[in-house]
Amino acid sequence: MGILEIKNVGKRFGGLQALSDVNLSVAENTVHAIIGPNGAGKSTLLNCLVGKLIPDTGSVMFDGQSVLGRAPFEINQMGISRVFQTPEIFGDLTVLENMMIPCFAKRDGAFELNALPSVNRQTDVLERAMHMLEEMNMADKRNMHAAAMSRGDKRRLEIGMCLSQEPRLLLLDEPTAGMARADTNNTIDLLKQIKAERDITIAIIEHDMHVVFSLADRITVLAQGTPLVEDSPENIKGHPKVREAYLGE
Ligand code: ADP
Ligand code: MG
Repeated sequence: MGILEIKNVGKRFGGLQALSDVNLSVAENTVHAIIGPNGAGKSTLLNCLVGKLIPDTGSVMFDGQSVLGRAPFEINQMGISRVFQTPEIFGDLTVLENMMIPCFAKRDGAFELNALPSVNRQTDVLERAMHMLEEMNMADKRNMHAAAMSRGDKRRLEIGMCLSQEPRLLLLDEPTAGMARADTNNTIDLLKQIKAERDITIAIIEHDMHVVFSLADRITVLAQGTPLVEDSPENIKGHPKVREAYLGE
């Protein structure tokens, strides 16, 4: 039994069957990559895991509990955190203020944006946020406006904000999309470090095969809404069906 068990999931948008018969098991403490051409249904599948979409058919179990029908914040409290395709940080706030928001939410179960001006007096939250920034190697950037950072650092901050929730499952949707090579390599190193240092399972959607083969323990290829093949990175590399799916892109 994997920590995440997806069974017979289907999702239709009007006349388009975006997902059909998706079966996927993610083993605890592994990195599982989901690859596939544009429009294969990768983001749709992720949206079904975090409560943004409800599948028409099938089940999604996390650690033995169904996530279906739960609100995104409840799923987050169950231990699933998600990094979006474009960084979701507050550009006008400083790096430290950004990090304080999830730390606040972790402590209180919710965060009231109006409370921000008094946040600096909440020393426990401040300490936790600083600790997380240190872990992310970003403490020296704490007073920078988040918008002024490089794409790689924005991503680093966002991943740190997710980790402050102490998730057991981290979901990443194309975390290196639009990044320069140096930022991509930094992100790979960061994810390797997280994998080595934490009890965490990572499911990653990724286009960049260099990233996939640097990190993944297992790879599922999704094509036209359904898994084509699942195997180890070594076996996926030369798989004729995989090459076919990519040539068709
Ligand atoms: P991927 O992430 O693999 O590129 P997506 O999951 O974003 O693919 O999309 C799968 C298919 O579903 C695409 O054809 C896309 O246009 C369609 N789709 C995704 N979301 C919606 C939506 N909210 N409404 C209608 N169609 C959608
Ligand atoms: Mg996508």
